[in-house]
Amino acid sequence: MLIVQKYGGTSVGSLERIENVAKRVAKARDEGNDLVVVVSAMSGETNKLIEYAHHFSKTPSKREMDILLSSGERVTASLLAIALQEMGYKAIAMTGRQAGIKTDDSHTYARISSIDTQNIENAIKDGNIVIVAGFQGINEHGNVTTLGRGGSDLSAVALAGALKADACEIYSDVDGIYTTDPRIEPKAKKLDFISYDEMLELSSLGAKVLQNRSVELAKKMGVKIIAKSSFTDGKGTIIAQEDKNMEEVLVSGIALDKNQARVSLRDIPDRPGIAADIFKKLANEQINVDMIIQNASKEGMTNLGFTVPQSEIERAKKVIASVSDEIGGSDYDENVCKVSIVGVGMKSHSGIAAKAFESLADNSINIEMISTSEIKISMIIDEKFGELAVRVLHETYELDK
Ligand code: ASP
Ligand code: MG
Repeated sequence: MLIVQKYGGTSVGSLERIENVAKRVAKARDEGNDLVVVVSAMSGETNKLIEYAHHFSKTPSKREMDILLSSGERVTASLLAIALQEMGYKAIAMTGRQAGIKTDDSHTYARISSIDTQNIENAIKDGNIVIVAGFQGINEHGNVTTLGRGGSDLSAVALAGALKADACEIYSDVDGIYTTDPRIEPKAKKLDFISYDEMLELSSLGAKVLQNRSVELAKKMGVKIIAKSSFTDGKGTIIAQEDKNMEEVLVSGIALDKNQARVSLRDIPDRPGIAADIFKKLANEQINVDMIIQNASKEGMTNLGFTVPQSEIERAKKVIASVSDEIGGSDYDENVCKVSIVGVGMKSHSGIAAKAFESLADNSINIEMISTSEIKISMIIDEKFGELAVRVLHETYELDK
């Protein structure tokens, strides 16, 4: 088998932990596998490098930031190769460029455009364990680029896809994806499987485990990911395309997003173009609008509600003020949160939403806004009931069973 393994920052957070990873890699090797191992920088290292740059400039040039930040992963890759060599294994460390990872020009948030796997394949043929510095590539001008925070996951998925690897194992300090945040609901259970789409919708739950972009890429390339802990020996969670069996599961997880604020606009003239106008202005200010709800109009006037990240509410207020002569009134609520129920089974089962509304009502939790997609129901509620709502819904759908 050809296995791509990726070890995150905490898994390689100290020299002892790198040693521990070396032992894991060696074990997989002893079992007869070919291995490509992608590593992150040691935990905290990337942040430290960013701070160093900020010592000299508030707006350091992105090209130089990429050279700087890519060094963190190189440290780990070379140390792991050295550790493996010392244990008697043939191992070779590669930078992103040496691994053939080509990207576009967007420094600090580059996209992988292609991978030339020749170098890696030759090294494997020569009997090497290949260790790749994650999070980086090279653009067509020969400049080093990085792939955005958490980008080593992306390196691993892209390599697994390009090499047609038999498995893509992503190791962190968490042993998989849970039905909800175990700090909110201790009865949360680890999932054996989750589909790409559910994982993307539950990104807040998996944020510590997988970078969102890497899940999108895995879906596009059909790379099956296994998320595991490098500290224990569990089976982890498989992230893959859903199959018929998965649709039997109604709800896979409950997510809570506290970074939400609600904007309500009253008495807006109901004419074509007004919504376009408001949301264009918000977009121009780079304000991310999440849920949007417009009511049926009454006497030529309508109401419009939407949510934005809490950190963007002040800027949103300014934008609204700039269009306000057409808007009858506005109010804002920063103390709201979004609770979401996610499951592919919703596609083929009805009544899931009604059950959620009912159990929140039984607990006197008022729902201020609702939005749905094929596999998700999101509700905006008072922030102080966020955790309670998660526990109530977790119980309603028997996710602890
Ligand atoms: N070291 C980079 C970061 O902290 C990339 C990664 O760890 O995946 O974002
Ligand atoms: Mg990470």
